[in-house]
Amino acid sequence: MRYILLLGPPGSGKGTQVELLKKEGFKVLITGDILRNEIEKNSLLGERIKRIVNKGELVPDDLIVELMETIIKEDTSSDKDIIIDGYPRTVGQVEGFLKNHSDEKIIAVYLKVDKDILKKRLTGRRVCPVCKRVYHIEYNPPKNDMKCDVCNEPLIIRKDDEPEVIENRLSVYDKQTQPIVELFENKGLLRVIDAQRTISEIFTDIKEILM
Ligand code: AMP
Repeated sequence: MRYILLLGPPGSGKGTQVELLKKEGFKVLITGDILRNEIEKNSLLGERIKRIVNKGELVPDDLIVELMETIIKEDTSSDKDIIIDGYPRTVGQVEGFLKNHSDEKIIAVYLKVDKDILKKRLTGRRVCPVCKRVYHIEYNPPKNDMKCDVCNEPLIIRKDDEPEVIENRLSVYDKQTQPIVELFENKGLLRVIDAQRTISEIFTDIKEILM
């Protein structure tokens, strides 16, 4: 059993690839969705998380590490690889993760994309409020009328995909997340994928790594 950590800036296509992997039967954990579920519960914790996520900031490391490690532990009952989107996301989270899992079980897959392309991708992103499937108005539109292909629900813009929040998320990424790419590279655990190609080309590369 291995941990496949998907790394990359907001808009690098992690969510899209994770959806495809899920469809093919891979086991995936999506940190953003786990947090959004917590928000929907309207719990005290959910309220606290909502205020942070809506600004494009990161939820504190201790909270995320505890939440994610609990979920990962529940999931390690089988021998299947686990693909994780969105965790770890800071140097502190990597330290928390490495305390619990050994290096030989880890592959960090970095989806590399230039910044100008990221902004274009993020402003066109739409999601289904019911099944959370991710679309793009230009690159990956739904079959009809801005409605989800599966649920037929009108697609929405995520609160944190609004323009000023996007700017903040990209700068938070540069400061807090990009350093972990180097950290995994120095440990010899990093695989880099050119994520400026088509969705299916990127998917093929990821699956090759998973073989
Ligand atoms: P995502 O859907 O992965 O872009 O995540 C949406 C938001 O959830 C981020 O902008 C953060 O506010 C929060 N978030 C997701 N993953 C983490 C993490 N590992 N650490 C802290 N905050 C996170």
